[in-house]
Amino acid sequence: MKHYMYLAILVICQLACGQNFDPPPLNPDPLSNEGLTHRPHTTARPTGSATVSGTATSTNSRFRSQPVPRERTRVAILGYHNFSATRPVSDMLLRTSELRAQMEKIRRAGITVISMREFLEWRFGNLQLPEKCVLITLDDGWRSVYTDAYPIFREYGYPFHLFLYTRYLTGRGDSMSPEMVRNMMANGASVGSHSVSHPYPSTWRRHQNSGQQAYLSFIDREFGESRRYLEQHFGQVNTYCYPGGYNDEAMVSRLPMHGYVAAFTVIPGKVTCEVDPLRIDRYMVFGTDHSIFRRAIDFGSQESSSRSSSGAQPGRVAASAPPPPFPVSPKPQSCVPSNVPTITAQLSGLSGINLSTVRMEVSGFGRVPAKLDATSRSLQWTPPCRIYMPNISVHVYWDSTDGTHHRAEWSFSIDQTVTIDQ
Ligand SMILES: [Zn+2]
Repeated sequence: MKHYMYLAILVICQLACGQNFDPPPLNPDPLSNEGLTHRPHTTARPTGSATVSGTATSTNSRFRSQPVPRERTRVAILGYHNFSATRPVSDMLLRTSELRAQMEKIRRAGITVISMREFLEWRFGNLQLPEKCVLITLDDGWRSVYTDAYPIFREYGYPFHLFLYTRYLTGRGDSMSPEMVRNMMANGASVGSHSVSHPYPSTWRRHQNSGQQAYLSFIDREFGESRRYLEQHFGQVNTYCYPGGYNDEAMVSRLPMHGYVAAFTVIPGKVTCEVDPLRIDRYMVFGTDHSIFRRAIDFGSQESSSRSSSGAQPGRVAASAPPPPFPVSPKPQSCVPSNVPTITAQLSGLSGINLSTVRMEVSGFGRVPAKLDATSRSLQWTPPCRIYMPNISVHVYWDSTDGTHHRAEWSFSIDQTVTIDQ
């Protein structure tokens, strides 16, 4: 809903852009062998054209660290939205100076920032990458990506990937114009689809209720028309990002027929070369919670696995994590006979909790509008639609009144023989 909130304030003044940009070129097929348009221009890395192809191996000299066998690489994919130097921060809006600080942390940590094309050639081809990589993605098409973030990415020589929903690509208000996108593509940007209209679960569900054929037509329109539009303007597009992270089996099964080879969610986790390419984890970097970014670039922990192509993710992060310090439902590692399970965390036993900081994230949905009862301190959410994924991870975040951050996580599975709403 936040996207719409921002759409409602499109009247906010447009920022004049003081950068001098290179002439716009047309960009390239992310999986072609034409070579990257991105040329790092800082001394932090070797400069020069970095040609990667489906057959490239460990000889790539662009990377900051030595490439390793594919299965040893882990990628933290960062997801950003909007930026401002002055407007109040929110989950969706990050202080511009904080973005710079984060890029500097990546540089100092010796982490390699890879392009989407390199990511795909690593996942599908035999390109070898360094052990620790970051892939930068930015959702929706906010104008501040051009005015605030792009100069920083250029300064650091970092490539980045824009997930654009085509109805927002107008250049009016807070949105970017196609011309801005083309300018950025001269210097490290690549483009993927984020649908036509950015539907949220309630919209998907409405179409679902109109019958299977109507639902599939709606999916085809959002997937197909957005890709056609983006390809007309920017060259080949083969990546998709689920709005709000929401996805189901019907969507996943129809992505390939529209030419998408990879699709991205909003579930935090390191990505390995075994990742299911149509449900790839990302760390959404909130303007209000910098701990997410810290976790993303922490490659020292065991927080490494991602859903594999085999589809199983039993417990994933939660299996090795301690159980939540409060009663939860469904119980950790349980199998529930419902595909619309109500998820509850009973927080009444926690002392010194800052109630305004409590939030819940659920795999496949991202941050969910869980209700917190101020009296009983029960945090509860019921999915607005059936969950098709067999395994569900739940994360609950909160701050103590002394400002320390906390997180609890658990996972459960859904009985796959259940076919109707319970
Ligand atoms: Zn979005």
